[in-house]
Amino acid sequence: MKIDTIQSWVLRYPDANDHGEWRLTVFVRVQTCDGVVGWGEGIAMWPEACKATKLLIDEAFGPLLIAAGDITVAQAWEMMRGHCWWYGEGGIACFAYSALDMALWDIAGQIEGKPLHALLGGKKRDFMPAYACNHVNKATNQDNIDEVVGFKQAGFVGVKLGFGKRGLSNIGRDPKNDVAFIRALRAAVGDDFDILVDAGHGVRWDLCTGINTVRAMAEYGIGWIEEPFYPTRIEAHRALKAAVPVPIAMGERAFTVTDYERLIATGVADVLGVDPGRVEGITGFARVDQRAGAAGLTMNAHAWSTAVTTAASLHLSLASANTRLLELKPFAVSVQTELVSEPIVQRDGRIAPIERPGLGIDVNEDLVRRLAWDG
Ligand SMILES: [Mg+2]
Repeated sequence: MKIDTIQSWVLRYPDANDHGEWRLTVFVRVQTCDGVVGWGEGIAMWPEACKATKLLIDEAFGPLLIAAGDITVAQAWEMMRGHCWWYGEGGIACFAYSALDMALWDIAGQIEGKPLHALLGGKKRDFMPAYACNHVNKATNQDNIDEVVGFKQAGFVGVKLGFGKRGLSNIGRDPKNDVAFIRALRAAVGDDFDILVDAGHGVRWDLCTGINTVRAMAEYGIGWIEEPFYPTRIEAHRALKAAVPVPIAMGERAFTVTDYERLIATGVADVLGVDPGRVEGITGFARVDQRAGAAGLTMNAHAWSTAVTTAASLHLSLASANTRLLELKPFAVSVQTELVSEPIVQRDGRIAPIERPGLGIDVNEDLVRRLAWDG
């Protein structure tokens, strides 16, 4: 493919899934000399990180791709990584070339007339089971339990509970209450419903508290514990893994395929969270997936942003033998419901494949321009 033009935007939108707070991301629109258009996203999230990502797209990687002439996606990926060798082994540069890599895969699929999952080796299953990826942010335990019961009634097969988030809840900040919440939630939703706990950035457990809390939650059947400690505390993860019968999910602070190779080598992660809008794009995700498969680990796409990343995550998850679930934001948000002509939704707990070429999304460019933020 030969790239003709590249445009980028920082998008800002209020998200009902994050207590109505503003969230930001970076979009690219890449057009070939033949007029094929591809879309990509880099989930930099913070205003300054989004601005830096856009600058790297506009002033470094974009011009590089245009100047390269006729290239393949793999060549473009190597070229972008090679360009930022001094500053790009992780960090902001990864958001920028992840977005471009995603757009180039979208284009490649359209040129071949095949959906992305076909380009990635073909579907390993007919649909992805959907869980609601929810921030626990209502005032009382009962409100938060009622909310999850609503997800089950809507068809979701499970929930991931973000602890220590913005909002009115103290979930994640009082271990005793956290366990009581999980116990009451399990009683409310029954046994045939996945409960995943994401401690994430907001929870600060010391080793002893982490072990005791996760062990107590394990009695009520949690599917995994995500980011229980700061990600560099490998020995704390190892101690937790030895002490509890709960899979450990990690990866939120990893940026590159190499980061995941190091993480896999520690032996502490059971589930790898991987975001194609951050981890060296679709190419990066696919390479991590190969390594996860060889190590017998589960892959889980981090897809908590717009429909562009959700589409990429859906194709990648379907084409992987190592995934078991895919997350959706449970509450309506413009970057999911209005951004694409056919929003990605679950029905009876299932997310159907997209069978149109490339990412297979028809992006509402008016909405992109409406949400564009210039800081
Ligand atoms: Mg997480």
